[in-house]
Amino acid sequence: MALTGLDIYKLLPKTNCGDCGSPTCLAFAMKLASKQAELQSCPHASEEATAALGAASQPPIRLVTIGAGDNRVEIGNETVLFRHQETFYHQTALAVRVREDDPEREARLEKIAGLRFTRVGEEIAVDLAALEEESGDPEKFAAFALRAGELSGLPAVLISSSLPCLGAALEKIGKSRPLICPRSPEKIEDFAALAREHSCPLAVDGGSVEKTAELSLRAREAGAEDLVLLAGSGSLKEKLADLTVIRRQALRKQFRPLGYPTIAFTNPDADPEAQALEAAVLIAKYAGVVVTDLIRPEYILPLLTVRQNIYTDPQKPIQVEPKLYPVGTPDRNSPLLVTTNFSLTYFTVEGEIEASRIGAYLLVVDTEGTSVLTAWAADKFNAASISRALNDSGAADLLDHRNLILPGYVAVLSGKVEEESGWTVEVGPREASGIPKFLKTAYRGGTGKDQS
Ligand code: SF4
Repeated sequence: MALTGLDIYKLLPKTNCGDCGSPTCLAFAMKLASKQAELQSCPHASEEATAALGAASQPPIRLVTIGAGDNRVEIGNETVLFRHQETFYHQTALAVRVREDDPEREARLEKIAGLRFTRVGEEIAVDLAALEEESGDPEKFAAFALRAGELSGLPAVLISSSLPCLGAALEKIGKSRPLICPRSPEKIEDFAALAREHSCPLAVDGGSVEKTAELSLRAREAGAEDLVLLAGSGSLKEKLADLTVIRRQALRKQFRPLGYPTIAFTNPDADPEAQALEAAVLIAKYAGVVVTDLIRPEYILPLLTVRQNIYTDPQKPIQVEPKLYPVGTPDRNSPLLVTTNFSLTYFTVEGEIEASRIGAYLLVVDTEGTSVLTAWAADKFNAASISRALNDSGAADLLDHRNLILPGYVAVLSGKVEEESGWTVEVGPREASGIPKFLKTAYRGGTGKDQS
């Protein structure tokens, strides 16, 4: 039976030293119980506690890191089958395949590096370059792996069933911790030894879930700790079935040989639209890494968008940093508008101010990511929070006037905001779509309020 947070707490030192990153031993015990921490994070755990907690404190799906330093990608360590039960923690890493003998390989690698976009204030990008060996020539593959790192700047997935080719590539780029991906169930102990020697993660491809579980045990016994399980190589239906079985077995049965993140490939022979659809399904249903041949932005951006949406914590609204934002090129007479830090609200208001072509300041109040009316109803967007944000923002130093434009939906706050802040409140439109007309009417010419 799984240990509760209190069971675990009884075994910890109870000194609340904070060395594990949690403020108290109880908080750490709760994290251990929900598999969001590992016992090794507490350097003071006794041998008795280590023995007692041992396997019980291991996450059901191991956290595996591909890459090193700032360039690393973490996959695995998931705790639920369905996002609404809690959240998904480590988003699917998207890898674009580059073949060794492709005459366009260098241009392709440069393109991969450029596949990054900004969406709702977050940078979303391709994570890995999947390098497929084709020559059988160790020196050539090693040179390709080295060059790929220079051109893409991304960690690699090394796809090859040749031990000498993988060995030569790892001599060149092993320190950057690529994922070793042999596409063969043969010689698993030899590949595991290579992974152990270079401290790199290893993909295990058994051809079926049963065989993959057997190979993962053998790889583990041969010293490879960070494993990634290859899911299906046939139809999308088979891949989906494998991914689901692996996740269920790991989470519901705590079946250790399948307690690792997964990797899946889209079908290289399918047309781009079918590959994009396949990749989206694999992202939605549990793949830790998706390797695709797609490279054009019109396919990659929607995939990254799907991923961003699935890996957003459903319990936490997407927020922007509460502060004063210049929109366009405001000057000392420009209007000052106020809104909340719910991303959707912020980007809608910011977009409408931009559309007005009038430089302005936008004061974003911390309402814990709620929209204007919700925040007002919850008393998070009120005279006190707006006045505090105004004072903290430094707006008074940037502007010659003391006028603040409130969203029309909270016009009722005008008097209290004026009282508390000392600024004059002007009531803006209810809907963000009314902002361009409002600003153009009141601030004709772009700077300074038109008093006529
Ligand atoms: Fe408690 Fe160990 Fe964390 Fe210190 S490091 S607070 S002793 S659990």
